Amino acid sequence: MSARQRLAQQLAAALAAYQESTVIPHCAVCAKPCCRLDTLVLELEWKQVKILWKLDESRPAFDRRLASGKGPEEIREGDGLYYIHSKPCPAYDDAGHACRIYGQEIKPAGCSDFPVYEDQGSVIADLRCEAVDIDGLVAAVAKVVGPEFRIVRSADKDFSFLVTLSVRKVGSTPPTGKRSRRPKPTL
Ligand code: SF4
Ligand code: SF4
Repeated sequence: MSARQRLAQQLAAALAAYQESTVIPHCAVCAKPCCRLDTLVLELEWKQVKILWKLDESRPAFDRRLASGKGPEEIREGDGLYYIHSKPCPAYDDAGHACRIYGQEIKPAGCSDFPVYEDQGSVIADLRCEAVDIDGLVAAVAKVVGPEFRIVRSADKDFSFLVTLSVRKVGSTPPTGKRSRRPKPTL
C-alpha cells in the first residue's frame, strides 16, 4: 500500500469515528435535519426512487409522468438521476429524527458521506450540518495524521459551506492544478 493510500485510509477511519462520536448523536436534537431536504438536495438512482415512492409503473412511464408535471413535485430528473428537494425524504422518520433505511443497501451513498467525507487524501466538510464544528474536526484529523502533517483549510469558491481540509506533509510544497472531483452540494 502506498503512503497516499495509507493516508486516505487513516482519514476515512477518522471521519467514520467523527460521524459516530459527534454527528450521529446530534441528529436526534438537530434543529434543521438535512433529511427534510428544505436546503439540501438528495441524489437518487431509479431503483431507490422506485422503492422509496412505492412505484408500480415502469421507469419510462414514470419519466413521462414527471415530464408532464403529474409526478411527485419534489422530484426532478437529470442525466439519468433523480434529485429530491423541498419535501422530506420518504425514508425519514420525522418524529423519531431517524432514517428508516439506515444500514441498508438502498440507503444513498451521499447520505453516508454527509457531512464529512474523504476525497483523494483530503477531507470535505459540509458546514450546513450544525453538528460540524470545523475547529473540532481539524483537531480530530490532526490527531490521527500526526505532527508530520499540517491541515490547510479552504472554502469552495461557489459553495462556501463546503470546506476542504488538505493534509500536507510538513515542509512539502502545495500541489498545483485542479482537483479531479469537485464536491457537489448534495446530501
Ligand atoms: S444536518 Fe447534521 S446533525 Fe442534522 S440531521 Fe443532518 S447529519 Fe444530523
Ligand atoms: S435516506 Fe435516510 S439519511 Fe438519506 S435523506 Fe433519506 S432519511 Fe435521510
